[in-house]
Amino acid sequence: MNRIAEAYVRLVLALGRHDPDYVDAYYGPPAWREDAARDTPPLSEILEAAIVLASRLATTTEARDELRRLRQRYLARMIQSVAVRAEMLAGKRLSFDEESVALYDAVAPRHADALFQETREELGKELPGEGSILERYEAFKARFTIPLDRLERVFAAATEAARERTEAHIALPEGESFRVEYVTGKSWGGYNWYQGNFTSLIQVNTDLPIYIDRAIDLAAHEGYPGHHVYHSLCEKNLVRDRGWIEFTVYPLFSPQGMIAEGSANFGVDVVFPEEERAEFERAFLFPLAGLDPDAAGPYERVRKLADRLAYAGNEAARRYLDGEMDAKSAADWLAEHALMPRVRAEQRVRFFDQYRAYVINYTIGKDLVRRYVESHGGTPENPQKRWEELARLLSSPRLPRDLA
Ligand SMILES: [Zn+2]
Repeated sequence: MNRIAEAYVRLVLALGRHDPDYVDAYYGPPAWREDAARDTPPLSEILEAAIVLASRLATTTEARDELRRLRQRYLARMIQSVAVRAEMLAGKRLSFDEESVALYDAVAPRHADALFQETREELGKELPGEGSILERYEAFKARFTIPLDRLERVFAAATEAARERTEAHIALPEGESFRVEYVTGKSWGGYNWYQGNFTSLIQVNTDLPIYIDRAIDLAAHEGYPGHHVYHSLCEKNLVRDRGWIEFTVYPLFSPQGMIAEGSANFGVDVVFPEEERAEFERAFLFPLAGLDPDAAGPYERVRKLADRLAYAGNEAARRYLDGEMDAKSAADWLAEHALMPRVRAEQRVRFFDQYRAYVINYTIGKDLVRRYVESHGGTPENPQKRWEELARLLSSPRLPRDLA
């Protein structure tokens, strides 16, 4: 298994030479990366090697203990996703749903436009002022922008609280930490780059206004118990304790992307359950950002409603990537149905161009992880169990299909 795992890591690194977004993290032997750079095989060779590797793995005997069995299944599925991504880079065209299954091991259910209409109408009732719902929504959100010069302290306070709460339930590896950088010119709002050795670099994009609810989203999704914790636990439990080298590489366009985004988004709700989140924002983050704490209640109501529009992004991406809409109409559609201000909608379309069906991981992934954790007893009424099941998921190689 370890030989197959090494071959897999080398394949991912080789494919990363053809696709700059593919290798999201790598902290294995530096020589393997140098090998891939020095002697990069063409896509056709990578595809062939992935097929051969998959058949080699298929002939190994099934392990007896559960975690080892999960490892085999996981590796087989990850190798399959390498082959698919290689084919795509070589020019093979897949529909949005075909790509979703092939790379992420799940398909986004379809949502009718009417569903978003209902949410927009409800939002319309909450939003004060004159004009269209989108105009009123924009004006409302603008009042909750974190001033750039306060961003650091607001984000630090949210991170500190998320860390404290996570640490009370999950044993974090000693010495874990991350640093934050503020960047511009990206198609995303925040990003975690795992560096190995229990450290991350978190980048926050300041191209567009950052609203107050993003502080907790960023701190929890990118940090605790999100990506930073997920990768740290993989390194501690799977790489260091077990020597499973395949976890030193994280190919973004793979089933692991679904697990990573799903657990990070679900983690936000675990570390800050609804009421606690509202109270923490009101009492600590609003004052730090110089915002009126009395407005926290209405803001929270609007945020929760607008959350439901997240699924609209999948619909826009599906239609856009399947060629039913061009970039302009996709942005128009997002503005109308997902209530995205024009510049935000355009940024989102650039995200579709860069990451394609990856968009489903945030919504579908979160639903999968939540259902999995809750079906194992980790309901909101049982927070201790909720943490336990989340931690177990973050430390074991499960596939999206295993969560369904
Ligand atoms: Zn993420």
